[in-house]
Amino acid sequence: MVNAYIGLGSNLDDPKKHVRQALGELKQLPRSQLLLSSKLYLSKPVGPQDQDDFVNAVAMVITELEPLALLDELQAIEQGHQRIRERHWGPRTLDLDLLLFGDQSINNSRLTVPHVELGNRDFVVGPLFELCPGLILPNGTTLQELLQQCPIDGLICIDA
Ligand code: ATP
Ligand code: CA
Ligand code: CA
Repeated sequence: MVNAYIGLGSNLDDPKKHVRQALGELKQLPRSQLLLSSKLYLSKPVGPQDQDDFVNAVAMVITELEPLALLDELQAIEQGHQRIRERHWGPRTLDLDLLLFGDQSINNSRLTVPHVELGNRDFVVGPLFELCPGLILPNGTTLQELLQQCPIDGLICIDA
């Protein structure tokens, strides 16, 4: 069993509903168990600013799935939310990113883990800190170090 962290985001068609529903769907992942889920947070869009704010959260599952099989499951859940891929970093009903997969570093055509932008996004670092303040990345970087380069003071929690 491996601990995997998954980032959730939505900014279309009642984003809170999509994120909460997706958390329910993560509970149904095969050969996996949802152990933790963060509160919901509001963030400004990455990239194009002419779109609504995002609702974000992070979940932690333990899983027997291989990383690409987990990615397949996550993309199937996105599809179930009628996600349409339009422009890069554009609006979406649901985005599920595989942030961390145990202490593995993965680099192939479909998957880069840890997620490339993990340490640069307050809406990822904040919920990770909520779930696991002592977290250490595969390269030895601590979450405490990430917090120093990526302040989370601006992050708005919307379901305290
Ligand atoms: P970003 O990755 O910067 O958050 P995005 O989430 O908008 O951008 P997507 O369009 O959702 O990007 O995904 C593009 C591709 O990224 C996917 O088809 C997937 O194969 C690949 N990918 C690489 N690494 C990951 C990862 N860690 N989690 C999810 N997808 C990944
Ligand atoms: Ca993303
Ligand atoms: Ca994604």
